[in-house]
Amino acid sequence: MEFLTSSLIELITQTSTNLPPDVRAAMQGAVAAETPGTQASQALTIIASNIDMAAEDEGPICQDTGMPTFYIHTPAGASQVAIRKAVLEAVAEATRRGKLRPNSVDSITGKNSGNNLGAETPVIHFEQWEQDDIEVKLILKGGGCENKNAQYSLPANLDHLGKAGRDLEGVRKCILHAVWAAQGQGCSPGAIGVCIGSDRAHGYELAKSQLFRTLDDVNPNPVLAKLEAEIMDEANRLGVGAMGFGGKSSLIGCKITAANRLPASFFVSVAYNCWAFRRLGVHLDARHGAITKWVYRDPERVVEPMAKGEGFPLTGREVVLTTPLTEAQMRALKVGDVVLLNGDMFTGRDAMHAYLMKNPPPVDLNGAALYHCGPVMLKQPDGAWVSKAAGPTTSIREEPYQADVIKRYGVRAVIGKGGMGPKTLAALRECGAVYLNGIGGAAQYYARAIEKVNRVHLLEEFGVPEAMWHLSVKDFVAIVTMDAHGNSLHADIEQASAKELEALQAV
Ligand code: SF4
Repeated sequence: MEFLTSSLIELITQTSTNLPPDVRAAMQGAVAAETPGTQASQALTIIASNIDMAAEDEGPICQDTGMPTFYIHTPAGASQVAIRKAVLEAVAEATRRGKLRPNSVDSITGKNSGNNLGAETPVIHFEQWEQDDIEVKLILKGGGCENKNAQYSLPANLDHLGKAGRDLEGVRKCILHAVWAAQGQGCSPGAIGVCIGSDRAHGYELAKSQLFRTLDDVNPNPVLAKLEAEIMDEANRLGVGAMGFGGKSSLIGCKITAANRLPASFFVSVAYNCWAFRRLGVHLDARHGAITKWVYRDPERVVEPMAKGEGFPLTGREVVLTTPLTEAQMRALKVGDVVLLNGDMFTGRDAMHAYLMKNPPPVDLNGAALYHCGPVMLKQPDGAWVSKAAGPTTSIREEPYQADVIKRYGVRAVIGKGGMGPKTLAALRECGAVYLNGIGGAAQYYARAIEKVNRVHLLEEFGVPEAMWHLSVKDFVAIVTMDAHGNSLHADIEQASAKELEALQAV
């Protein structure tokens, strides 16, 4: 099958860089629903621009290209051994080309394989079918939203919703709880796949497989169709909003299936996918592997640009700052301020924060902007690095370390997404620092704010996503969501949405 590997590389490239039409339409709805000028609207404006930029440049929509997961249907006689080999080749090549971030980490040694290959990665599911073509569907679901998956065992007592019993009302409560608990950390507005029943392992599998339904389809089971519609309505009344900034769009899709269960078990499994909902598919000619048609795409349908204007609409009220940052500058900021950052910025995420607890930083972090980001980087023939995707990662993972890092090393601005907890908030107040929320998933948008990649530290030890990258940025847009006065937009939205959740308890 001479075209098989190249067809699979094209599938990976398109999945990573070009959102399917149903997701674009849902996101257009989210943009239209939001009140202009709000933080949620600003976030969605950046997201819309980012979707366009990614498609135009064939760059990853989000720097976290997730766990590549393939669902493959083969006709009788097709060699699954040959197809698996081609999938592995295609994944390694797409990684080399910067369409996938090296995301496969040895769970025992912590070593990144560098090419997305390793034990059980990528994930490949095979099934035989009666058609002549090979069908390959791919989903790239990132870690931020994967961490917001949830599984409930009914009966259960849920925060703000009370008792959830072994019936559809209990199921409804579990799903609403999962959307509320995700807040902005899974890069809302999200889409969820749900499985009612089955066992723990297969329930999660079935929940994820619901993400292969188009967002605008209608469940053939009228009971589930009604539940899906109710969840869409109620979840969007919670006020979590884009990026957890508050607002009207918390969910762009809810797809539910039901599977038989053991009499003693009643699980509800929820697979949460961020707005960067990357899934596509192809049919391949089983003789030579060439693409015969795309799944989720209509060749007749023109793909309209998402963004209405040119990028982020500046108002002139933005606070322009250049690193190194001072305590006085940080104490002057308050929640809601939009900041345009210029100058040096350093990335650091999980491995780097753990390292900084035991070792001095490889650079001077006094007055620094520390960016929670695991970028996609490509090395040029002359040895220089170029950033191909560089959006923020979920910050709450650094909560155990962040306060100490701020206090010990003089960091003045922490940039990430989804917000952080009370320990960090207290450190911001004590030291005179701020938390800046970037727009999760806006990897192309932020890559364009990077003027230069100056250096990289600890690359050998931690791999590309976890190394400390020294960047020079220009007009890097972020919103102050935790300030040096003890205010946190995230805590406020969590509380306000909890009240909305309570109001839905007995609907
Ligand atoms: S959009 Fe957010 S949750 Fe989704 S992959 Fe990117 S960083 Fe992760």
